[in-house]
Amino acid sequence: MANCIFCKMAQGEIKPDVVYEDDEVLAFRDMNPQAPTHFLVIPRQHIPTTNDLEAGDAELVGKLYLAARQVAADEGIAERGYRMVMNCNPEAGQSVYHIHLHVLGGRPMKWPPG
Ligand code: 5GP
Ligand code: ZN
Repeated sequence: MANCIFCKMAQGEIKPDVVYEDDEVLAFRDMNPQAPTHFLVIPRQHIPTTNDLEAGDAELVGKLYLAARQVAADEGIAERGYRMVMNCNPEAGQSVYHIHLHVLGGRPMKWPPG
């Protein structure tokens, strides 16, 4: 997608602070962190929202979580705990329309989220 900032990162056109990458998945630090550790895990493939996921994307979605698990361990937050969130559409606060898994940790989290 030409005007998608996360596609530009996935294609190496814009270089975020990468914490994990492979052929299908990229993870990088959020530019506006909401916790001491806050990174995003994205598929390199452009999928606008979770509403656009198809049955064939099941393995890819699983890989987002496996990458998150790996980076959470690397960042030292795995045992204390961390929150994973994927916002969908305006009422959930989605602002970038290329799916991304937020991973937040390093402080206690409140429930329910706002
Ligand atoms: P959303 O609101 O869509 O769930 O989350 C989008 C996230 O992407 C926000 O937390 C925002 O700070 C982050 N973000 C947006 N643009 C950029 C960028 O250019 N670089 C980085 N590292 N994070 C970004
Ligand atoms: Zn995109």
